[in-house]
Amino acid sequence: MDFELEPLPFANDALEPFIGAETVTIHHEKHHGGYLKKLDAALDNEEARSQSLTDVMLVSEGAQFNLAAQVWNHNFYWQSLSATTQAVPDGTFAALIDQSFGGVDEFKRRFADAAANEFGSGWAWLVWNPGSQRLEVSSTTDAVNPLVNGNIPLLTLDVWEHAYYLDYRQDRPGYISAFLDAHVNWEFAEQNLVAATKVLPP
Ligand code: FE
Repeated sequence: MDFELEPLPFANDALEPFIGAETVTIHHEKHHGGYLKKLDAALDNEEARSQSLTDVMLVSEGAQFNLAAQVWNHNFYWQSLSATTQAVPDGTFAALIDQSFGGVDEFKRRFADAAANEFGSGWAWLVWNPGSQRLEVSSTTDAVNPLVNGNIPLLTLDVWEHAYYLDYRQDRPGYISAFLDAHVNWEFAEQNLVAATKVLPP
């Protein structure tokens, strides 16, 4: 396992005004980096270090699970954000969104509800459920990752207050709608879907 903090996939100010440079810097260096440092300190044997972050997360419990999952979730979060507005997918992904939610607008409504209604700190997710063969929206509390329930993450939004408080204060719904309206990394979600389903888009 590599204990280096993954660099951001964009400049610290690239998301402005959606998320300001100060928030991005503190969030990446202090919060995300802080979880990584504590995980590094907690994993004290070579066997643990030879595993992937996903494996460490899935075999860990308690504080070590929280640290590994928070590193995993933040790696995934930065990639879920796009500095530029991307077109909503077409083809296979669009058909699955239609089948699963009845369209993109309904997906956004459900995602916004899940993100806004997660009480306290947590994460909102778009996942692939291999059992039902459908896309689903969910939220998790604290550090919990959908992989622990067998679902494959495609996209996430951090709804811990540290993700939005400097820019939005208490207005979590404003942060959520700015994400859904203009900053979803649909390309990343589609790559994850293709990897999860092994189905190539037409
Ligand atoms: Fe965070």
